[in-house]
Amino acid sequence: MAVKYIPEPFRIKMVEPIKMLTQKEREQKIKEAKYNLFNLAGQDVYIDLLTDSGTNAMSDQMWAGIMRGDEAYAGSSSYYKLLEAGKDIFNYDYIQPVHQGRAAEKVLFGAMLVPGKIAISNMFFDTTRAHVELCGARALDCVVEEAKDPTKRAPFKGNMNVEKMEKTILQYGPENVGLVVMTITNNSAGGQPVSVQNIREVAAVCKKYNIPLNIDAARYAENAYFVKLREEEFKNKSIKEIIRAIFDCGDMFTMSAKKDTIVNMGGLIGVKDATSPLILLIKARCISFEGFTTYGGLAGRDLEALAIGLYEGLDENYLKYRIGQMEYLAAHLDDAGIAYQSPVGGHGVFVDAKAMFPQIPYYEFPGQVLAVELYKEAGIRACDIGSYMLGNDPDTKQQLHAEFEFTRLAIPRRVYTQSHFDIMAEALIAIKERAHKIKHGYKITWEPPILRHFQAHLTPVDK
Ligand SMILES: *Cc1c(COP(=O)(O)O)cnc(C)c1O
Repeated sequence: MAVKYIPEPFRIKMVEPIKMLTQKEREQKIKEAKYNLFNLAGQDVYIDLLTDSGTNAMSDQMWAGIMRGDEAYAGSSSYYKLLEAGKDIFNYDYIQPVHQGRAAEKVLFGAMLVPGKIAISNMFFDTTRAHVELCGARALDCVVEEAKDPTKRAPFKGNMNVEKMEKTILQYGPENVGLVVMTITNNSAGGQPVSVQNIREVAAVCKKYNIPLNIDAARYAENAYFVKLREEEFKNKSIKEIIRAIFDCGDMFTMSAKKDTIVNMGGLIGVKDATSPLILLIKARCISFEGFTTYGGLAGRDLEALAIGLYEGLDENYLKYRIGQMEYLAAHLDDAGIAYQSPVGGHGVFVDAKAMFPQIPYYEFPGQVLAVELYKEAGIRACDIGSYMLGNDPDTKQQLHAEFEFTRLAIPRRVYTQSHFDIMAEALIAIKERAHKIKHGYKITWEPPILRHFQAHLTPVDK
């Protein structure tokens, strides 16, 4: 264990009690939840790693902002504060608040994609893919090959395979490609960063074929921190300068502000060029779906906290501590010979469930097996990022075979301490020791047509 836990650059002012049920109680609860972790009551979870989305601990400054929030329906001062922060950090002319990331996708993609179009990404996040498909378009991933090998260490495993992307554009015809989406960091590949060089190359191809480039920017700050550590050109640049370099490449962005901006709810759309005809469409769709353009589905206090959080997320001491937590847990797993998407990414540890349960086929969902075991073992709630999440082919309705079978331990920001991380490591090690005894996974007994993993019912396969 060569990795030291980076001390928290804050102290605790308010606490929230948590408790652990007995193993017997947990086994009963997960059965009642139809083996779907999303169906568990939060109170029945000890360490909640279901997502890093909206689960962040706000600062004293952000809570003070909540009290200052201006609740004017139109033109609230909190809205103007948010605009100023957004323009300052991203250098985009138009900033539109919305209630969360998928709202940004609904508002923007609906203005750009029609049936028959395709959209290409390094990797689509699940809701992003769903919104492409809801427009009647098709979503295609072109991530670099090394992302698909969890043991292969590379600095930017989130990158787009630019050659494959260009081939795909030519195969479908540039006129049929409605959008290219760069997801930073690449969430579904394990929170893996994307290099500025790669974003520049993607932007050049988009320009060549006149295809708009959208940045799916949920983890823009974590991505920028990795760029600073790993990309020579940026080692002496500030996080803000790196963010500018990234956003200079895009035409617009969609952002879930529930991640790197450290708030509990919010989202943004940005458009670089004030003369873009898209802006009028965004405004119209925002008013219909989210609310008036100066609040976009958020309360004034949320806008105020978001404006503050945009800056807090850029603090390098905070980012060092944050990425340090992932490295600390990953080092424990290295010692125990537990495979994960390595090097570890920015917002969680993606344990390779296929490697832990080689006897369980993809259609019995090894990532879900490990998630259920973590809950039974230590009251930890994680989630599957694999075939269970990926779902069925929209055309053939057949179960898709995911590139990976991960169990994601997503780490909420500024919430858990070193001893919680030790419990995570101990639980994974205990499960690994008995993993060979688990012969079968799960089958689905009921599923909705889209984004099934949130709601599906499962039952153990017993043969
Ligand atoms: C979370 C996330 C989204 C969706 O955002 P919500 O706020 O959950 O609606 C989109 N893209 C990426 C990469 C995300 O991580």
